[in-house]
Amino acid sequence: MRLFWHRGDARTRDNAGLAAAARDGELVPVFVYDADLLGTVGARQRAFFLRHVKRLEERYRELGSDLVVRAGDPEEVVVDLAAAYDAETVFYNEHYRPARRNRQRAVEDALAGAGVDTDSRTDLVLVDPGRLEARYPSHGQFHGDWEAVPKRGPYAEPDADALADVRDGKTVPEPDADIELPGAGYGAARERFDEFLDYGITSYNDTRDDLPKAVEAPTHAVSRMSPYLATGAIGIRELWAGASDRYDAVTGGERRNVDKYRYELSWREQMYHLLYYNPDLAVSNYKSFPNEIAWRDDDAAFEAWTRGETGYPLVDAGMRQLNEEGYIHNRPRQVVASFLTKHLLIDWRRGARYFTKQLIDHDYASNHGAWQWTASTGTDSVDVRIFDPVSQMSKYDDGARFVKEYVPELADVPAGKVVDWPTLSRAEREELAPDYAHPIVDRNEGYERAQRVFEEALGKR
Ligand SMILES: Cc1cc2nc3c(=O)[nH]c(=O)nc-3n(C[C@H](O)[C@H](O)[C@H](O)COP(=O)(O)OP(=O)(O)OC[C@H]3O[C@@H](n4cnc5c(N)ncnc54)[C@H](O)[C@@H]3O)c2cc1C
Repeated sequence: MRLFWHRGDARTRDNAGLAAAARDGELVPVFVYDADLLGTVGARQRAFFLRHVKRLEERYRELGSDLVVRAGDPEEVVVDLAAAYDAETVFYNEHYRPARRNRQRAVEDALAGAGVDTDSRTDLVLVDPGRLEARYPSHGQFHGDWEAVPKRGPYAEPDADALADVRDGKTVPEPDADIELPGAGYGAARERFDEFLDYGITSYNDTRDDLPKAVEAPTHAVSRMSPYLATGAIGIRELWAGASDRYDAVTGGERRNVDKYRYELSWREQMYHLLYYNPDLAVSNYKSFPNEIAWRDDDAAFEAWTRGETGYPLVDAGMRQLNEEGYIHNRPRQVVASFLTKHLLIDWRRGARYFTKQLIDHDYASNHGAWQWTASTGTDSVDVRIFDPVSQMSKYDDGARFVKEYVPELADVPAGKVVDWPTLSRAEREELAPDYAHPIVDRNEGYERAQRVFEEALGKR
């Protein structure tokens, strides 16, 4: 008998470790409810993931088996389950987050002590990070090497006869029913992806920064697959195969659009690669600076940022989208992160922690890697990148469609005035929208201060 230990991969399809366990043998699928690990993410993501686990359980029952669920420390629980089912090998997928890696090592040691073999597979990424160089000077160079590695197709779901005929009365705790979430489980993930393949992917490059379209057709303008990927409801090979089939089926401009989607997936791959070689990605600057960055401790500004009350309309709309939906579109995501770390000069780790608790698509590698990139402490090849929140709005939301969706105080203000809000006089702002915030930092002073502080840290002043 074999065990397959489901970790962050709540699916039977396109699951590398599960497929390996099902080859020439019978398996018992198990899930360990690890309250400590689940406590590190926000309530929204936790509930979403637990709903996937429920769907997974249902799927195993349809296949004539069951998901064996136990709560506790995996180090003890997996060993006990291996003994209970007389398993000679425990299979699972590799994870790169340090807390998960440490858990895995402890489980491996405990199983070895009990005389049980282990077999772990690469599942989260298309290309095993260990096959690539440890460090790349730019995403372009990473992409070149990564692209050259052949990508395999999705793994099939195990046949019913590879699954042991078990019945388990236990289940995961009922997730908070009041939290509003997208449909859970593989079926919902696949449905969303199919819709994107039908209506979004062949225009993806044209719409991925189109904020009005992101309000009107949120799952066509971009894929919104990140919540499902981050919680393991769908496999990355399945997304790659879906996009690649579309790529082969279309030509010209449509093909370029599809290719851009595949290119974006390579950013996710780079973030995992980064974490694999830099396990302290969430705590230490990736780039080394000769001098310390003079971050500011400004609790009032940080709180205003979290509430979406900075007086910068695009920043505030982005933060309110995050607070309301647990999701934030990539364009405002970059703008809010830049605003916090540059205009407010607040340490990226504080922002990343806030995102961790709010995001339904929180991904340890992508969140910390992207925060570092935006804060200019990460892999960006530009020394100091500062997004100007006013010109970003004028470029991507000049009709204020996105901003007005999330900032009702500005509903009656003409779009041009919303774009220019931080540069208007206080009197004009008060007349136009007395309930909306005044800018908490001067746009030019914030910009120049960030430029100076980073140049000092880099030893260029
Ligand atoms: C400060 C900051 C924090 C972020 N935190 C996360 C996070 O916790 N989880 C997360 O999945 N993404 C994160 N991202 C990356 C990106 O914003 C989201 O992946 C994207 O907005 C998700 O929406 P989507 O699925 O509609 O993306 P699409 O535009 O449809 O892109 C398709 C997929 O490509 C991948 N992708 C695209 N851009 C990136 C990127 N820059 N880095 C990594 N993967 C990317 C994602 O898996 C995404 O689902 C962060 C970006 C920033 C600037």
